[in-house]
This record gives sequence, structure tokens and C-alpha cells, in this order.
Amino acid sequence: MWPPFSLNRPLVWAGLAALAAIGWLPSLWLRFVALCFVGIGLADAWQQIRHESRRRLLSEEALKLSDDGVVISDAQNRIVAVNPAFTQITGYTIDEVKGQDPSILSAGRHDKAFYDRYWQTLQATGRWEGEIWNQRKHGDQFPEWLRVQACPDDKGRLSHYVALFTDISRHKAREQDLRRIGFEDPLTGLPNRRRLHDLMTSRLRHLRAGEGLDMALIDIDGFKAINDAMGVDCGDRLLARFGQRLAGHVAGGVVGRLGGDEFMVIRTTTFNDHEKWVSGLRDHLSEPFEIDGHSLRLGLTIGSCRAPEDGNDSGVLFQRMESALYSAKRHGRNHDQRFRPSLDVAGDRQLGLVNDLRAALAKGTQLELHYQTQHALNDGALVGMEALLRWRHPEHGMISPADFIPLAERHGLMSSLGSWVVDRAVAQLATWRAAGMPRVPVWVNISALQLIQGDLESRLAACLAQHRVPPNMLGLELTESVLLDERAGDIYPRLEALRKLGHEIAIDDFGTGYSSLSYLKRLPVDKLKLDRAFIRALPEDSADAAIVSAVLAMARGLSLVVIAEGVETPAQRDFLKRNGCPLVQGFLFSRPEPASELEARLMEPQPV
Ligand code: C2E
Ligand code: CA
Ligand code: CA
Repeated sequence: MWPPFSLNRPLVWAGLAALAAIGWLPSLWLRFVALCFVGIGLADAWQQIRHESRRRLLSEEALKLSDDGVVISDAQNRIVAVNPAFTQITGYTIDEVKGQDPSILSAGRHDKAFYDRYWQTLQATGRWEGEIWNQRKHGDQFPEWLRVQACPDDKGRLSHYVALFTDISRHKAREQDLRRIGFEDPLTGLPNRRRLHDLMTSRLRHLRAGEGLDMALIDIDGFKAINDAMGVDCGDRLLARFGQRLAGHVAGGVVGRLGGDEFMVIRTTTFNDHEKWVSGLRDHLSEPFEIDGHSLRLGLTIGSCRAPEDGNDSGVLFQRMESALYSAKRHGRNHDQRFRPSLDVAGDRQLGLVNDLRAALAKGTQLELHYQTQHALNDGALVGMEALLRWRHPEHGMISPADFIPLAERHGLMSSLGSWVVDRAVAQLATWRAAGMPRVPVWVNISALQLIQGDLESRLAACLAQHRVPPNMLGLELTESVLLDERAGDIYPRLEALRKLGHEIAIDDFGTGYSSLSYLKRLPVDKLKLDRAFIRALPEDSADAAIVSAVLAMARGLSLVVIAEGVETPAQRDFLKRNGCPLVQGFLFSRPEPASELEARLMEPQPV
């Protein structure tokens, strides 16, 4: 800029005017005065120059300090100056870029249209701001946030461009990390549920004629037990290895983890050999896994389906695969099941019921407990009663607990349903005690899930304390399968603790499971409930008769009390009596009935 000071100042003008006038002023005195003005004008101009250079120095210092890269280019867009941050970020010194077009930094990621828009905006508004990819001197590309300002001169003509940019590669990497976290299972590095949905949708969209999509959900049997026995770290390693092996097996396919021990596999194929593919997966995964010196051979439950035959929407296919998996689980371990339309109908109906049950639990109005009395065989005395859950559905009428309890277990409602039963039964006991009814224990059924998920022990204690009912008034019926369910952990100390609290414990449905006598002997239980399947054909069926009399003899040997359930006929009753069965329960004595009916009836003596 010349002159390097502003002419727009009165003292400078006065000095210049005085300089011009000096030559023709008549008197020496006046010339002297004019000279003084020239001096003052010069001093003012000098001060301005000093100010200006200080300002420049300061702004150069500021540019040096800035973490943002700065590029100043002239009207022809040739670089005239850069700051140290520019050199640091791009690797280029000023000597290397001076006189060059800033486009030497371009990473080539943006097309011509992008740059056309860039120049249009810059020319129209004088500025541009946005994300742009550039390239460092040694070749790696990086994203930057760029702000460009067009600077006019005094006359409004474009003189320079000033560009400020921030390297945002770190920020971007974090963003990518975050995105990855949202889509990736951190343990295995495989796609998570959300990502699997996207991948399935995309594969479905790109299916060509003659191609199909095979999909399978794989669940590791008894994984909880492995976790418990070997520790969570070990379990994690197993899951990671499992995922790796699966991914190695289905090259070109998709493998992901839905959470827990559930994995999913998708492959696009022209073969129509779904079942063979599933059994191939199973074979590959059934080779043992070596973890911490242990060789683990895993059981797998697999639910599968195939598009387009079983559907062509990812949401529907997911659901269908899950119903297939549930159905496979119902068959027991190491089973696989391809989706069938009948599963869908059942699935829809069940989902509706689950929602209704959730609502019923919230309101508490449709659920009731009915009570079935238990008697001593020798004199017919009332010795206890079993609380049985009833659901009076507003549209479907009475629904059997045998139908809705498995649903509640599968859909995570069992611990609240179980708590509801315990609360209700204990409150009823308290009412009966206050009303002077016979003091006999009420037995409640405890599901495996209550032992696994809920905090059964503290729930029981809190409820009994609240209603001031002693624990020996609340018996607990656990089926053999509950006692054998490894997910409940080591059952022995838990049963012992419950008994210490004062509860009596019965093994329900005895004879239907696989409990060996030696296992039973070990367990701290008080009572066996002989399953009604053995009672039904008594006394004619000689096999059942032999089993029942053997169980009765065995129980006597173990000092266990036996109660026979499902006693419907006098012949069954007499057989049991002859063989020394002490207690009975069944329609012959009473059906399960609401508390009010039971109260009225208990005033009468019991027939035997
Ligand atoms: P369970 O524990 O074996 O209950 C006995 C079942 O046999 C009851 O069926 C009862 O009504 C029925 N029953 C009793 N006497 C006779 C008889 O003489 N003949 C015949 N044919 N049946 C008889 P219910 O009430 O339908 O219960 C079915 C199952 O549902 C129960 O079997 C139990 O496993 C489960 N359940 C019922 N209430 C509850 C509960 O509150 N919690 C849990 N976890 N399960 C429950
Ligand atoms: Ca029972
Ligand atoms: Ca039973």
C-alpha cells in the first residue's frame, strides 16, 4: 500500500498544503509557519506508519500463533503468504507454495460441480465455508473445515483471498468411531443388530433373479453355565472365537452378533440347499473350542429362514427367524428349525397375548389365584392348599396357566408375574389368619425364571414381613426342571437358604424329569409331588402302579413326604392308601376354586 499512511487525516492534509504553499508565501514569517505545519504533518504521518507497522507485526504474530492454517492468495488466486500452522498441517513451506494455486493441495475427492459451486458462492457473497478434503505433502488425505474470504481493495476491486482452515481429521475419526460403536458389537467387532438390519435390507434389495438369501440365528446352548463355571472373561473369549470361526466359514456372507450368545449369518446364493447350509454351519461350529486349556464342544440351537420364499422384508424375516429359533428351543437343545407359516400365526397370536398379559399385570384386575386343597389320606384332614394362577381374559375367557406361563417366561414377564402370585397368596394368608380360618400352609409354584431373574429370597422375606405371616405358612413348589436348570446357578445353597428362612420345599411333577435318586438325596427338600401322569392310569396300569409304589417306598427311605396330585377316583385313592401315600390332592377332593368359595366350603367337614 502506498503511501503507507492514510491521506484522510487533517494534519497530513495541512502539512501537504503548507508544503505546496511554502514556495510562493511572501513573508519569511509565513514560510516559517508553513514549515511548522509541514513538520506537524510529517510527524502525524510517521506516527501512522509506526502504528500501521505495529499492527501488521501483531497480526503476523497472531497468524503465527494460530492453530488454524492461513493462506493468503492474490486476485489471480496465487499464494502470497501462509502461516506456520499451514506448514505444520500440510507439510509445505512458503517457498514451496508461493505463487502456486491453492488447488495443489486438493485431494481430488471433489468433482468439478463442487468447485463450480464453491467459486459461484465466493464471487456472489464474498465468502465460502465448508468441509473439504485436501492432501498433505507426503500424500495422506485429510478433511479440513475451510473459511475463505474475498478481500477487496479501497476501490472495491478484488485484491486477495484469505483462507483459514482447521484440520478436522481427528474430530472425523472420533465421529467415525462413534458411528462404528453404534453399528458394531464391541466384543467381537462384528456388525450389531442395527447394522445387521441394514445389511439384510441391502442384500435383499440387490437380490438378482435366481438368487436367494439364507439366514440363520444361532444360539449357544447353556452359555450361561459356561460363563458361570469358567468366568466372564472366558465366556467373552469364547464368544469372540465363535464369531471369528463363523465369519471365517461364511466368506462373502454376513456374520453379526445380536447380543448375548446369539449370532446371525446371512449369505446370498444361487443354490437352493438351505437345510444343507444350516447343517454345514452346525458341523463347522461343533468342532471343539480350546479356551484356557479346556476343550469345549458347544451345543447350538438354530432358527433359520430363506428369502424370498419366507418373506422379503428385513423386519418380517428377523421376526420369523426369531420365532423359528424359539420353536427350536422348545424342542430342547441342539435342534434347528426353519421358519414355517404356522409359527407366524402362533407368533402373532402370542404377541397379542403377551401385550394383554402385560396390561393385565399392570391393572391386576384380570388375574386371580384359585386354591386347591390338599388332604391327609388317613383321615381326610385339610393339610394345605396349592395356589394356582388364573387369567380371566376379557375376550378369550379363562386362559390356562399352562398356556400363558411359558409365554410370560419367554417374554420377560415371569418375575413380575411370580411376584404378583407371592404377594397375592401372602395377603390372602394374612386375611385368612385374621378371619380365623384353618392355619394350613399355602403352596405356590415357583418358575425357573423367578429363581434366575428375580430376587426371590428377598421378595419373599419382604412380603411375609409386610403381612406378618410366618415363612412356614408359604410352601414353595419347584419342578424338577427348575432344580436342574443350570441358569439358576448352584441350586443347593439357595434351597438351603430358603429352608433356613422357614419355607418348606416340594419337588413338583416328580417323575417327569430325570432326577436320579442320588441327586434327590443331596437336595434339601421336604416333599415330592407325584406327577398326575402316574396317577391317571392307576390302579390298572401295572407299570405305573409299580413306579408309584417304588417312589413311595423310596421316599419313605429318604424321609420325604409324598403327595399324589390329580387324584380323581376312589380307586386311585384306595391304591395310594394301600401303598402308604400320606397326602393327596385332586378333583376327587376339590377343584381349584376362588378364595371366597373355599372360605364358605371350609366350614363343612371334608369327605374322604
Ligand atoms: P401343577 O403345578 O402341576 O398344578 C396342578 C395342575 O393340575 C393344576 O392345573 C390343577 O388344576 C390340575 N389338577 C388338580 N387336580 C386335578 C385332577 O384331579 N385332575 C386333573 N386332570 N387336573 C388336576 P392348572 O391350574 O391348569 O395349572 C397348570 C400348571 O400351571 C401348574 O401345574 C403349574 O405348573 C402352572 N401354574 C399354575 N399356577 C402357577 C403359578 O402361580 N406360578 C407358576 N410358576 N406356575 C403356575
Ligand atoms: Ca404345582
Ligand atoms: Ca404338578
